[in-house]
Amino acid sequence: MSTSAHLPAEPSVAPAGAARTGGTVTDRLIDANHQYADAFSDPGMDARPVLRVAVVACMDARLDLHSALGLSLGDCHTIRNAGGVVTDDVIRSLTISQRALGTRSVVLIHHTGCGLESLTEEFRHDLEMEVGQRPAWAVESFRDVDQDVRQSMRRVRTSPFLVHTDDIRGFVFDVKTGLLREIETSD
Ligand SMILES: [Zn+2]
Repeated sequence: MSTSAHLPAEPSVAPAGAARTGGTVTDRLIDANHQYADAFSDPGMDARPVLRVAVVACMDARLDLHSALGLSLGDCHTIRNAGGVVTDDVIRSLTISQRALGTRSVVLIHHTGCGLESLTEEFRHDLEMEVGQRPAWAVESFRDVDQDVRQSMRRVRTSPFLVHTDDIRGFVFDVKTGLLREIETSD
């Protein structure tokens, strides 16, 4: 069985915003980059985020972090993956963010309607059946988004590699309203 069977079917018609002008999607991105660079001027920043904050969030396409949080270029580190899960690699990025690039605060953002809610660890099993190799990573699927945010906060707070763990806050972003809801820690 293909693991893609767990995911929503692709729409047969490209939605608004998909490639409209011929060429591949990547060609479209490259065209957009040329326009971006034409209007771009070097802001003269160094690599340290101005607001000294790292945001860990789901990769979900409906979550526009800069707009939703009023962020500007250079303000923050954004670390994203499927679910906004605090994996070892996210800890790696946070460690570099704090120890080499001066951030102090961590904001965790999960969201309503996350694709990980419809997956289970069976996804790994199905993958193994399909390709003959079990992935080393966990799917990190979840049922309770609030609990998942709490677990993520706990993983950040208890990491021995981080130097600043006193300002870690977690939120659920509502994809219907655009509002963040803060999750209180239970411990
Ligand atoms: Zn998600």
